Amino acid sequence: QKAEWAKLVNEPTVSKDGQHVELVANIGTPEDIKGVLENGGEGVGLYRTEFLYMGRTQLPTEEEQFDAYKTVLERMEGKPVVVRTLDIGGDKELPYLDLPKEMNPFLGFRAIRLCLEMQDMFRTQLRALLRASTFGNLKIMFPMIATLGEFRQAKAILLEEKAKLKAEGIAVSETIEIGIMVEIPSTAVMADIFAKEVDFFSIGTNDLIQYTMAADRMNERVSYLYQPYNPAILRLVKMVIDAAHKEGKWAGMCGEMAGDEVAIPILLGLGLDEFSMSASSILQARSQLLNLSKAEMSSIIEQVLNMTTAEEVERLIKEIEVKEV
Ligand code: PEP
Ligand code: MG
Repeated sequence: QKAEWAKLVNEPTVSKDGQHVELVANIGTPEDIKGVLENGGEGVGLYRTEFLYMGRTQLPTEEEQFDAYKTVLERMEGKPVVVRTLDIGGDKELPYLDLPKEMNPFLGFRAIRLCLEMQDMFRTQLRALLRASTFGNLKIMFPMIATLGEFRQAKAILLEEKAKLKAEGIAVSETIEIGIMVEIPSTAVMADIFAKEVDFFSIGTNDLIQYTMAADRMNERVSYLYQPYNPAILRLVKMVIDAAHKEGKWAGMCGEMAGDEVAIPILLGLGLDEFSMSASSILQARSQLLNLSKAEMSSIIEQVLNMTTAEEVERLIKEIEVKEV
């Protein structure tokens, strides 16, 4: 099976009935690019930049960040690279920021909330990204967006830094897409409004599931509630994809669910444009997608969304898959 998959490294991902989707990778450091290319990744769908900030005693400088972003963009040779701005907080701490302990870190001062407040740190990252933007196909993504106001504020800061750099005579790409992670239910529900202003969505199911089900993604005792196939989650995912398409934008997914064998047929049926997963899952996902029909999967979506439990959904998808092979 591994040998079969290896043949797919340079193949596009096209369903049996001709629907093209993009299979891209989640990375944490520039060193991960090797694995992306070896596994036939068509781009990077999520670069988790927090690793640049972790395991050290002070903030990374603009130069350090510029080097990392430039390396990733160059090594991807013009393929899309979605870089997520700093998503610290929750399970990821930065001791040197010396932030007060919180009762509910996952509901607290993290990610874009922290960046909009600690603006010097945020602006340094944005400058590094903007300077690196001419070395490849950069897309910038803000994490944990809960309101349109947060997105507008983050985008305004980005555009301010861009204008400053240009005034300094530094080249900046004019084609950078600016998108958001959809990982908070309020944003999924308001996706139609967001879609008018963002260039793309990437659905972060790791957090979207925990916030929708009110079940900590790290807590084993409530892990039975962590249900990717719950119709509640699938309905939110559908809202986001439909909202994007209505405005001519694209929708991807960068949570673990994007590489999940049971979820993939549903996501194809829902019209997801981009699947971002760990590099080691890409070839398996490609081989699965080549054998699926988009039209067939679309035709069962209504039935799936009207099911009552996650188990029912899982059973139906597994039955269909057995019939396929
Ligand atoms: C997510 O929440 O789905 C996601 C991709 O981000 P992280 O796992 O880094 O929170
Ligand atoms: Mg997340």
